[in-house]
Amino acid sequence: MDMPFAPEFEAEMLENQRQLDKLFGSFNGIIVVDEAYQDFTENMSFIKRLEDYPNLVVLQTMSKAHGMAGARVGFAFSSPEIIELFNRTKPPYNVNELSQKAVLEALQNEEKTKSEIQEIINNRDFLVEHLNSFNFIKEVYPSEANFILAKVENATQVYNYLRDKGIIIRNRSSQIEDTLRFTVGTMMECKAVITALREIKEI
Ligand SMILES: *Cc1c(COP(=O)(O)O)cnc(C)c1O
Repeated sequence: MDMPFAPEFEAEMLENQRQLDKLFGSFNGIIVVDEAYQDFTENMSFIKRLEDYPNLVVLQTMSKAHGMAGARVGFAFSSPEIIELFNRTKPPYNVNELSQKAVLEALQNEEKTKSEIQEIINNRDFLVEHLNSFNFIKEVYPSEANFILAKVENATQVYNYLRDKGIIIRNRSSQIEDTLRFTVGTMMECKAVITALREIKEI
């Protein structure tokens, strides 16, 4: 995949990386990195840094790229010392056997997972491109996840309009002024939201 970032965003990420390295090396407690969206990015997973930092815990999940939120399965990667602590408390609350089976099966079907992830990335590109074409959409923020945040004029009105058409997105305006969050769905869903937005002139 081509780097989709604006150069200033890339510079910011490198700077973040440097700051994190500094933090990891000097912090005396356990540091947890949540990589719920790792499957949708080309950026390096912190799993590669586990050997450098024994106080690092990396979390990943089957809920997003694998679409298995119902199985309630995630992974923790860390040093043997920290994993040993987990193992001491885990047995009574362990992941149930049916979920374990389903996850192992899903992980064996690597080709299917890869093509599903690629579809989400393609659909994300499609959404970004089309969202950028509306003049009432002021900014589409870079995304390395399965959702897109956009700055939208009269965001709440747009949100209500889509909701009334049966299209549910997320209104994030109470956290970041005039922003909407679009989860990347199937191509049909992406096209439906773009078509609905095109009709917005009429409201
Ligand atoms: C989805 C998500 C998770 C993991 O969710 P589970 O379904 O509990 O595995 C963790 N962090 C973030 C930021 C998420 O969006």
